[in-house]
Amino acid sequence: MAKILCVLFEDPISGYPKNYARDDMPSLLNYEGGQSLPNPSSIDFQPGHLLGSVSGELGLRSYLEKLGHKFIVTADRDGSDSVFAKELNDADIIISQPFWPAYLTKERLAQSHNLKLVITAGVGSDHIDLSSAIHKKITVAEVTNSNSISVAEHAVMMILALVRNYIPSYKYVVEGGWNIADCVSKSYDLEGMHVGTLGAGRIGLGILKRLNPFGVKLHYSDKYRLTKDIEKELNLTYHENIYSLAQTVDVLTINCPLHPETEGIIDDKLLKKMRRGSYIVNTARGNICNQEAIVNALQTEHLAGYAGDVWYPQPAPKNHPWRHMPNHAMTPHISGATLSAQARYAAGVKEILEAWFANKPIRKEYLIVQNGELVGTGAHSYTTRKS
Ligand code: NAP
Repeated sequence: MAKILCVLFEDPISGYPKNYARDDMPSLLNYEGGQSLPNPSSIDFQPGHLLGSVSGELGLRSYLEKLGHKFIVTADRDGSDSVFAKELNDADIIISQPFWPAYLTKERLAQSHNLKLVITAGVGSDHIDLSSAIHKKITVAEVTNSNSISVAEHAVMMILALVRNYIPSYKYVVEGGWNIADCVSKSYDLEGMHVGTLGAGRIGLGILKRLNPFGVKLHYSDKYRLTKDIEKELNLTYHENIYSLAQTVDVLTINCPLHPETEGIIDDKLLKKMRRGSYIVNTARGNICNQEAIVNALQTEHLAGYAGDVWYPQPAPKNHPWRHMPNHAMTPHISGATLSAQARYAAGVKEILEAWFANKPIRKEYLIVQNGELVGTGAHSYTTRKS
């Protein structure tokens, strides 16, 4: 029987919810682009309930225990005394979400002698040292697409929040003020601006599609070009490299994975090429941006605003400079963890586990690493460090 170690974020401060803001959720037929939704044989949870926190258990307990597996769920993941560190040595399967990642470094993977499968409940497996996973022939899978549109919606919200100066204006209301001039002296229309994405995959393309009706000029840069039909439909301008993209746009949104090619790619040099008064929205990964370079660009007012929900490390310490820099609209890592998305990725994790225990193939689009190589989505989107 297998030992499954699942690292999830903590329950709400007020306790696990007894009721919810809405009674139901819209049902989708497919993902945008046509990929079918997760299709496990059954689910043991109520879609719309909080599944990603410790008490939600991704809705997996009864399924795993009926099969006789040992299922350990914890939020305690930091340091050598943590439950995660102690249970890691003989775990067969590890599950975590990017919002509260169980960082599987080279050292931790070396210490996990039984590990065969790592599942990301969500999208983005950069918290796992993929080179080591390849070396140790550990399978890595994620629930591709499960929260792509959740993130795209969040990025669109943040672009509008920055350009329209929403957060400071909201604060004036809460504080009892009516500071029209203070609010509007940093507020612009998005209409007519140049908006570009680095990475035009599921999320990046979702953002472009959603912004198209806003009357903006759309740009992108990616390793591979989109089809001519999509470029034409959205009137997209393709840029061969990030420099060309960054110096053209008013708003840059980052939607590529974090891997050796993209780590720290938004640095001082690149920021200086951007127009004064540009905005950056990064819902991809914190380390794609150089931390100090972003703070400096905001303090010198070269950037007009920065928003996103991704940090390094996570959770961000109380003194993380991005909590206190000017003109930011950061949230904790939440964009891909809506209740809607949780229902999809919890079902996707169950689908992956069902395939694993039945010795059946895991869907190719879920796979990042298998049999000692990058495969599926992993082969398409990731690179590994040279050892
Ligand atoms: P995706 O469909 O795989 O798209 C990523 C795109 O980035 C792909 O088109 C990929 O190119 C491109 N890319 C990779 N390396 C690049 C580079 N060096 N320069 C330019 N483009 C590059 O993934 P997705 O679902 O859109 O997700 C994107 C990322 O968002 C994830 O990796 C994850 O880090 C992040 N994410 C965040 C949240 C959140 O809650 N904030 C949730 C989900 C995902 P090719 O595929 O053409 O090689």
